[in-house]
Amino acid sequence: GPFAAVDVQELLEAARPMFELRLRTSLARLDVSFPPDLPPVRAQASLLEQVLLNLIVNACDAHAEAGQPGPGQERRIRITAEAQGASVQIAIQDNAGGIPEAVLPDIFQPFFTTKSPGKGTGLGLSISYGIITELGGQIQARNAEGGACFLIHLPAANA
Ligand code: ADP
Ligand code: MG
Repeated sequence: GPFAAVDVQELLEAARPMFELRLRTSLARLDVSFPPDLPPVRAQASLLEQVLLNLIVNACDAHAEAGQPGPGQERRIRITAEAQGASVQIAIQDNAGGIPEAVLPDIFQPFFTTKSPGKGTGLGLSISYGIITELGGQIQARNAEGGACFLIHLPAANA
């Protein structure tokens, strides 16, 4: 079947060429920090890759729109993960200013975008929501630590 045990850190390393240029042009640094004993997730690698790519590109866009970072500040995107019982939580955290509280309830709706015409389709998060739901997981967004934080929960493959 299409579901396999996916090592998320390996997947991110393999996908790096797909977002490397995006990181560079938005002057953002990506830190990936996973515990060595993190269980694999039960997923379809190509779909999970699409979701992580969407979230990384969104964080890069937010950094690019936020303007120059203040003195001593650095544009960061941090991806961490932890086992939580029978599931794995993946967190994608940026420090690009966050999502206005007024639009937070709308961001997973198809075609919702705050980007100028031609720059955003408003489909990335709605597609990501559909994929994660189809994989039996959950995705949520919140503001934290000076930016947006997307939390993904997926079943652990060994559970
Ligand atoms: P698009 O990127 O084409 O606008 P998405 O569905 O990917 O569409 O995102 C919808 C909206 O959610 C964005 O236009 C933006 O307003 C908001 N958003 C998503 N990710 C972030 C983020 N990391 N920081 C701030 N806003 C974000
Ligand atoms: Mg997007």
